[in-house]
Amino acid sequence: SVAYFNGRFVDSRDPVVPIDERGHQFGDGVYEVIRIYNNKPFMLEEHLDRLYMSAEAIALPFREARESFKAVIFELISRSNLTDLDVYVQITRGMAARNHLFPDCPVSISMTAKPFRSISAELREKGAKTILHPDERWTNCYIKSLNLLPNILAKQKAHEQGCLEAILHRDGKITEGTSSNVFVVKGGRVQTTPLSRHILAGITRMAVQRVAAELGVDFQEKYVDLQELYEADELFITSTTSEIMPVVQVDGKTIGIGEPGPVTRLLQKHYKKRTEGVSGE
Ligand code: PLP
Repeated sequence: SVAYFNGRFVDSRDPVVPIDERGHQFGDGVYEVIRIYNNKPFMLEEHLDRLYMSAEAIALPFREARESFKAVIFELISRSNLTDLDVYVQITRGMAARNHLFPDCPVSISMTAKPFRSISAELREKGAKTILHPDERWTNCYIKSLNLLPNILAKQKAHEQGCLEAILHRDGKITEGTSSNVFVVKGGRVQTTPLSRHILAGITRMAVQRVAAELGVDFQEKYVDLQELYEADELFITSTTSEIMPVVQVDGKTIGIGEPGPVTRLLQKHYKKRTEGVSGE
């Protein structure tokens, strides 16, 4: 599949990144995953806002003008020959002999274009299982950093227990999933963790908030504790690639009636319309 590295379009299997690259050696960079539905990037401006913000937050001198950067993304999409795809974008502090201190070199920009990572229709229909896991990450999780070790370890643990995702908690409250935001539905009201340094401001979370407002569904930012999680009527997680995924089990305990609930279904339906360009975005 097609990829991009520092001004060149390449094949994603081509060996283009040298050993002395800070993304490779330190995870010293930031990234985005953007989904393209029927040739149209979904919430591209929001993803770019977050990318520039993340870069700034780690003092990464990413000065690429937004319009020329977008032109590269569009060229990648066009070269992929795909209409429905996921674009991965990564900016690192560049290529320099390994040394913790910031190097004096240009940043590295890499991208890949891949077909949609398939979402199991069965999971979407029946709902996913999850585990709880302590949030062992740093306190700057609002930055979409390449450093994902705690996320990887927790998600692998979930997988080994036959689950899709690990829901993370800190000080007795839910923060988010390892690669998703977490939502509880209680008494018809949708609740999710307030934005802070402890979670990523998910773009799908933002879309859910907009959809809820459109539908007149009550949306509340609230710290949810573990008891409230277990007692939820409905539970779902969101991300660019999993969209709105119903959750029916946490640590082996059934949530609600054990199937995706009506509020989750309603939000899913309207989110899908947005991705199809029918309403909103
Ligand atoms: N939280 C974390 C830690 C993530 O890694 C992700 C996405 O991968 C999300 C939340 C969801 O963000 P988005 O909806 O922008 O994909």
